[in-house]
Amino acid sequence: MSELNELYQQLILEHNKTPRNFKKLEQFTHDADGYNPLCGDHYHIWLKLDGETISDIGFQGSGCAISKSSASMMTSALKGASLTEARALFEKFHSVIMTKIGDPIPEEKIEELGSLGALAGVREFPARIKCASLAWHALNAALTQTEKSISTEIEKK
Ligand code: ZN
Repeated sequence: MSELNELYQQLILEHNKTPRNFKKLEQFTHDADGYNPLCGDHYHIWLKLDGETISDIGFQGSGCAISKSSASMMTSALKGASLTEARALFEKFHSVIMTKIGDPIPEEKIEELGSLGALAGVREFPARIKCASLAWHALNAALTQTEKSISTEIEKK
C-alpha cells in the first residue's frame, strides 16, 4: 500500500508540475470561477460543449498541488466525455474523497477513477477535500451558469 501511495504522490506532483489543459479556451460555451478561500486556490475553467459532449476543456489559475493536479486530472478525464459520463465520474470521485477516515474504500472504486484515484488519500485531510473538489465545483457552476463565481465556503455539507 505504501508503494501505491508513493506512486499516487508522484502522479499528483507530476500533474502539478505539468498540468494538462492548462489554457484558456478561445472558443467556449461555458465558464466559471472557482475559489477556495481556506487555501487560496483560485482557478477559472472553460469548456466547450457540442451537444452533450465536452469537446474541449481548459483551466488556468493558481493554488496548491492538490487543487492544481485535481483540475489537471479532471480535465484530462472529461475531454471528449459526455455530460452523463462527467456527472457519473463526479459522483464516484465525490463518494471516494468523502469516505470517512477508517472506512475501507473498495479497490475497484479507486481504479474506476483512473488517475483521479491518486487523490483518494485526501479524505484523511478534511481541509484538503475542498482543494481536491474545487475544480469539480467550478465545472458544475459553469454548467449551471447560475453563478459566475463560486466559493467552497457556500457549500454546507
Ligand atoms: Zn488547496
